[in-house]
Amino acid sequence: NRKMVMAQRPVGEPTDDCFRLVEEDVPELAPGQILIKVIWLSLDPYMRGRMNDVKSYAKPLEIGDVMTGESAGIVVESRSDRFKAGDYVTAHMGWQTMIVADDDEPRLMKVDLKNGSLSAHLGVVGMPGRTAYFGLSEVGKPQAGETLVVAAASGAVGSVVGQIAKIKGLKVIGIAGGADKCRYVKDELGFDECIDYKNEDLQARLRELCPDGIDIYFENVGGDVTRAVAPLLNEGARVPICGYISNYNDTDITKAETPFHILKTALHIPEHRFFVVTEWQDQWQQATEQLGEWVNAGKIKYRESIGEGLENAPELFRGLLKGRNFGKQLVKIADE
Ligand code: NDP
Repeated sequence: NRKMVMAQRPVGEPTDDCFRLVEEDVPELAPGQILIKVIWLSLDPYMRGRMNDVKSYAKPLEIGDVMTGESAGIVVESRSDRFKAGDYVTAHMGWQTMIVADDDEPRLMKVDLKNGSLSAHLGVVGMPGRTAYFGLSEVGKPQAGETLVVAAASGAVGSVVGQIAKIKGLKVIGIAGGADKCRYVKDELGFDECIDYKNEDLQARLRELCPDGIDIYFENVGGDVTRAVAPLLNEGARVPICGYISNYNDTDITKAETPFHILKTALHIPEHRFFVVTEWQDQWQQATEQLGEWVNAGKIKYRESIGEGLENAPELFRGLLKGRNFGKQLVKIADE
């Protein structure tokens, strides 16, 4: 087995010396255990937060711990009655190439390929898709005819938020970095418009495209984007705070001006709260099935950004934090 551990805490962007590749033998399976050959590793923005020594909704990593992460793979050996060799699974057990898991491990889930491809279970029908689904439905409470704005619109979460909102009859404005991403969001994903925040005047374009104000701002990004959106929020607007990636590489996140600070002035909005997808864990299965149905019907499209090899994961991770990915960032670890 090869695994990537955190060698030291990053200050700002996580440099190569924050990571160390470790090789170890795969232990013999005990009764009730399975061995998973990892095929895909998911890279997600939240992993940056785990590298800080700051209390959050999840425990921070310690030096020497395997990097947090979810992967998808195939069971190659089983001493369990619940899983057999050949089953596809996802396991939230870190950046590694082989995983030994107890069959009652809560971070382990069986994959049903009828809901989408194996890799889609790390993206559109997996954690990011469910995040979009619950954040929008439970916190955003969308109503047909309302105006929704979402940034990182071509990404794993944002792309699904916008497409579900379109299914529900909202007007959807995306924000993304660069002409290619914006073209994709508008022409392929079917958002009403997409603003290129790197090359256009974001505030002016938002005013122009949201003449009736903004009813839902799905927060993925924070910083300047939130500052541009805040003045346009309507009375009664909802802001599901999913994440604020523009701050993640700050040298001291505890001093960052987060969306909570920025939105404080917009006190007339009843709901602007941080949510974590695990809040709705008892409904995950249903969400994955609903997302799978939309994907199979062509109502939700998605895109993947694929890198290769565990050794390249740190560089791909840095790229994800600065928008080099175009769609869900995955690392291919082995052939399917
Ligand atoms: P994406 O696939 O969207 O990739 C990240 C994107 O963020 C980049 O491609 C880039 O897109 C954008 N970005 C990076 N830096 C900036 C910046 N300074 N300003 C504006 N945009 C920026 O990632 P995910 O969909 O996986 O995650 C999106 C958000 O959702 C993150 O904040 C993440 O932490 C959060 N999240 C929260 C969860 C929860 O349970 N609360 C669960 C999953 C995700 P571009 O090139 O368009 O700028």
